[in-house]
Amino acid sequence: MKVGILALQGNVREHASIIFKLGAEPIRVTNTKDLDDIDALIIPGGESTAISLLMQKNGFYSEIKKKNKLGMPVYGTCAGAILLAKTILGNSVKSLGLIDISVERNFYGAQIESFETDLEIKELGKFNGIFIRAPRIKKLGKEVEVFASHEKSPVMIRSHNILVTTFHPELTNDSRVHAYFLEMAKEYKEIRDMQRDIEVHN
Ligand code: GLN
Repeated sequence: MKVGILALQGNVREHASIIFKLGAEPIRVTNTKDLDDIDALIIPGGESTAISLLMQKNGFYSEIKKKNKLGMPVYGTCAGAILLAKTILGNSVKSLGLIDISVERNFYGAQIESFETDLEIKELGKFNGIFIRAPRIKKLGKEVEVFASHEKSPVMIRSHNILVTTFHPELTNDSRVHAYFLEMAKEYKEIRDMQRDIEVHN
């Protein structure tokens, strides 16, 4: 299983080391050709404005959307969550719009207001949530499933092959959220392989 990590800006190394620890192969994605070689993609936290500008410069928007439509799962943490959202409230950051949520950037305040808190994640249990200038997810579409909330706001959600956390599991030693994403990626890889077999036999 090859998991790409969008390596334009942000916490790339941390995601890569968790993916490696879980026995999958992390691939640094720096141009759109790298997307051809991966089974799933992580968009890391960092600064969504910077990541967005670099994505636009390198033609990532249409390519990521295309691959996702063909079944490639995408997991976004924090800035990655912002970039996946359908709507970014009061802001001009360009998003991919791959999950039906509205987010507000920097909801909890400045860097100094970053915090850690115990979360209860569905299917996974207790998890140390690290929030760094995190966005708040304000509105959810009907197809979005909530896995964890903090102060009544969703902080981990999934819709089909898109996973989002507004916290940073890559900054802990706990690999369960990434393991969950790898399971998701395996399911979608099996479906894609099956479709490919059918095409070959027809
Ligand atoms: N505040 C950042 C943004 O709006 C996100 C912070 C993060 O990814 N830790 O892009």
